[in-house]
Amino acid sequence: MPKFEYAPAPESRSIVSLRESYGLFINGEFGPGVDGRAFKTISPATEEVLAEVTEAGPADVDRAVSAARKAYEHTWSAMPGRERAKYLFRIARIVQERARELAVLESLDNGKPIRESRDVDIPLVAAHFFYHAGWADKLEYAGYGPAPRPLGVAGQVIPWNFPLLMLAWKIAPALACGNTVVLKPAETTPLTALAFAEICQQADLPPGVVNIVTGAGETGRALVEHPGIDKVAFTGSTEVGKQIARACAPTRKKVTLELGGKAANVVFEDAPVDQAVEGIVNGIFFNQGHVCCAGSRLLVQESVYSDVLASLRRRLATLRLGDPLDKNTDVGAINSAAQLAKIRELSEVGEAEGAQRWSPPCELPVKGFWFPPTIFTGVSQAHRIAREEIFGPVLSVLTFRTPAEAVEKANNTPYGLSAGVWTEKGSLILWMASRLRAGVVWANTFNKFDPTSPFGGYKESGYGREGGRHGLEAYLDV
Ligand code: NDP
Repeated sequence: MPKFEYAPAPESRSIVSLRESYGLFINGEFGPGVDGRAFKTISPATEEVLAEVTEAGPADVDRAVSAARKAYEHTWSAMPGRERAKYLFRIARIVQERARELAVLESLDNGKPIRESRDVDIPLVAAHFFYHAGWADKLEYAGYGPAPRPLGVAGQVIPWNFPLLMLAWKIAPALACGNTVVLKPAETTPLTALAFAEICQQADLPPGVVNIVTGAGETGRALVEHPGIDKVAFTGSTEVGKQIARACAPTRKKVTLELGGKAANVVFEDAPVDQAVEGIVNGIFFNQGHVCCAGSRLLVQESVYSDVLASLRRRLATLRLGDPLDKNTDVGAINSAAQLAKIRELSEVGEAEGAQRWSPPCELPVKGFWFPPTIFTGVSQAHRIAREEIFGPVLSVLTFRTPAEAVEKANNTPYGLSAGVWTEKGSLILWMASRLRAGVVWANTFNKFDPTSPFGGYKESGYGREGGRHGLEAYLDV
């Protein structure tokens, strides 16, 4: 039990000035949609309506693509890399200047704890723009030939789990390489993308280089299927990723897909238990487990199973769940009612299939969408909770005896995005890393991101890489 209670420490939301309604950002200006449709975005922590947002239809997507094409042909692709870099640096600096506002806005619209939006999401957004600003005038040294060409107009569709960060992963490399973009944020988290549109205006980015069309899945479909785009970049569910791959297969569009995951976090008997427990908690409860690379399958060596589980339970009892804007909050709100329903359903399936469910004592707020940190033990590889992406604060625990068994179990998944290894033996880390079929393998840490480091998956986790030198390839005609 905690020795003392934490006093409330809410971050003020007065730094954010929300508009009642937002238009589409096309050709450098906010304006209405052609058919006048709109939807509301709410705070998942309170269900309060935050703003009304325009729903872009096919005609709007068409206008956005035309604006991006014009900007590509007349301005952006012709601009020397060193000039494009100046805009990217400017955007990065404005993101830093407005960091507190963006963090509060992200936590309001997404439900993630302010500690994470303030210390992880927004600093990484700025870092992505700084990093790619550095590449803009050095593309000939990236290893893709002496004068690599951009692709043209990129259609980019992003999810709700890291709204502004996924925007940065998409827009920064596209612009650095000389492409223009039309981006669709997720229906439940459009507000930071719209704030980013204001940042583009503030940075005097030429009109049409960045266009933001808000809407739901249909807007995303209209964008990726638009014949006027040259490149599709998508992050989201494997199911929608497959639909996009099918739609783009008969076209000349270059496609990158960053899809789901079911990562194994493997703890060997010689791992320092306290550090491993912190890594397990960070692996699955960071961002309420709404993380494609979350360590949602814990594989513990049988000899240390009870010690690790006891420490993990003790640690979970200290996690504070509640107001995302409170600076002491560890676990915020689930992003939407639909996602909460999915987490509940899969958790019930877990129990029905015979796994044991445990959560620490935890009071859930009455309003909003909440799910307590949850552990399932007695999980077998055949259980749905060991195979399917729950995308919530739910950890499935399995055991193993030998390194070979750990590899076998870790790779026994249709996904291959990430994995974690906890051991003090460097040789075992390298042995595991060379056998795990995962795009990222973290050793004695988890969920660490850096713009210089390529990120992406094997198998049904998608294809293509984002970040680092490798990520540039997705936006160059090579
Ligand atoms: P989706 O894949 O549906 O959403 C991702 C983005 O694609 C959103 O902007 C969405 O719009 C858009 N979209 C939806 N349908 C289409 C389409 N046919 N063509 C083009 N774009 C489309 O994920 P969900 O939000 O529905 O989440 C469902 C599950 O997916 C989660 O429970 C989780 O398991 C997984 N997921 C994985 C993510 C990852 O990073 N790997 C991220 C998000 C979800 P809109 O939001 O308006 O529907």
